[in-house]
Amino acid sequence: MDTCGKIAVIGAGPAGLLTSFFIRKNDVIIFEEHTSPGKPEHCTGIVGSFTASFLKQILGDGIIDNKYYGVVFHTPHRKIELLLNKPIAYHIKRPFLEEKLSNMVEKLGHRLVLGVKVKPGEKPGSLRVGQRSLQFQKTIAADGSYSLFRRVCFGPIRNKIYGVQAVVKANIDFPNIFHIVYTNIIPDFFGWFVPLNEEIALIGYGTKKHFNYPQRIIKYLSRRIGLSNYAIKRFFGGTIPLEPPLRKPVCMEKIFFIGDSIPLIKPYTGGGLYGITLLALPLAKLLDGEITLERYLNIYNKYYKKFIAQYRIVNIVKKLGYWLPVFFIEDLYRLKMFKEYQFDEHERIAYKSIPLLPYTLPRLVFSSITAELNDFKK
Ligand SMILES: Cc1cc2nc3c(=O)[nH]c(=O)nc-3n(C[C@H](O)[C@H](O)[C@H](O)COP(=O)(O)OP(=O)(O)OC[C@H]3O[C@@H](n4cnc5c(N)ncnc54)[C@H](O)[C@@H]3O)c2cc1C
Repeated sequence: MDTCGKIAVIGAGPAGLLTSFFIRKNDVIIFEEHTSPGKPEHCTGIVGSFTASFLKQILGDGIIDNKYYGVVFHTPHRKIELLLNKPIAYHIKRPFLEEKLSNMVEKLGHRLVLGVKVKPGEKPGSLRVGQRSLQFQKTIAADGSYSLFRRVCFGPIRNKIYGVQAVVKANIDFPNIFHIVYTNIIPDFFGWFVPLNEEIALIGYGTKKHFNYPQRIIKYLSRRIGLSNYAIKRFFGGTIPLEPPLRKPVCMEKIFFIGDSIPLIKPYTGGGLYGITLLALPLAKLLDGEITLERYLNIYNKYYKKFIAQYRIVNIVKKLGYWLPVFFIEDLYRLKMFKEYQFDEHERIAYKSIPLLPYTLPRLVFSSITAELNDFKK
């Protein structure tokens, strides 16, 4: 057994790299199984204002390459548009995020070891790399939704969805507006159209099945949003974990989980960058000995409650119709009660919607009946 030092980070994704960036009092070795951080790419890169300004402070303006002042929701009943004075969402450049963070952590003196898959060793805190056994005092398991460390400590994440997306070239009239499409042909999630500029956009959807005729679904989505001419340049995607976060993301006080291995994601959209920006700094402080484990778990608990509330609301919404919250958002928007920074605060949107129930629900029923009648007439 080789004794290697204090902190090992498994995974050079946003979670592992951002946490490493904040660790300043200890040397860190980051192990990444792929040879280029951030590749193969999988993420759409949409974040709210909190995550955008957090990442901008660390990585500079270049990390954001588009801002969205509006969103169009295509529900099965009708189209709902929200236009705001301030950006509701931002596009983060990935894998540029991982590339830039990798350079920054190396400049701090941390070591990045690429092309090496690490497995949990037999003893807590020990790691296996091929035939070698390495010993670290602490391990950060930032190894994503297929985390081997999570599997050993808490069991695997079983509830997952595959995000499939196409990079398309087209003439995009409104590059600062993104679209969300709800349809029966995507029963488990929704579809999205996210322009990157006037010429390039991402069209994607979430599905429980791996291969679901992607070309046909992309064609359907582009028709729904009114995009007639486009050329698919390439497909990419990945897995979105849809399980509630771990109650305590720490195993035997030696292995600390962050990111998709917890998974600390927004259950309605699958967005994971927000949870990472919330937790990376406190986790780094814990490992640098600046805060106690108890303090760290108190901080985590605050976020846990937020995400678990979202998770419970989403479970109800899934049974009733994924598009249901959009009607409440529309009413909040009309009443000037919807704020652009609530992009990440789905539980607050739900709480604010409760007094609107007597108003929004009849409107929703009316809208459904009208849509059914229109279908019948056709
Ligand atoms: C299609 C899709 C669209 C998305 N869109 C958005 C979005 O718009 N906004 C948003 O906020 N989030 C989005 N997400 C989610 C976001 O990408 C993730 O939450 C985020 O990447 C999680 O970061 P992570 O570092 O925890 O895990 P990952 O990014 O998965 O990084 C884990 C890293 O660990 C490495 N690794 C794994 N196991 C080992 C091992 N044993 N040894 C060594 N290395 C290992 C992997 O190679 C990988 O590089 C999307 C995800 C998908 C799939």
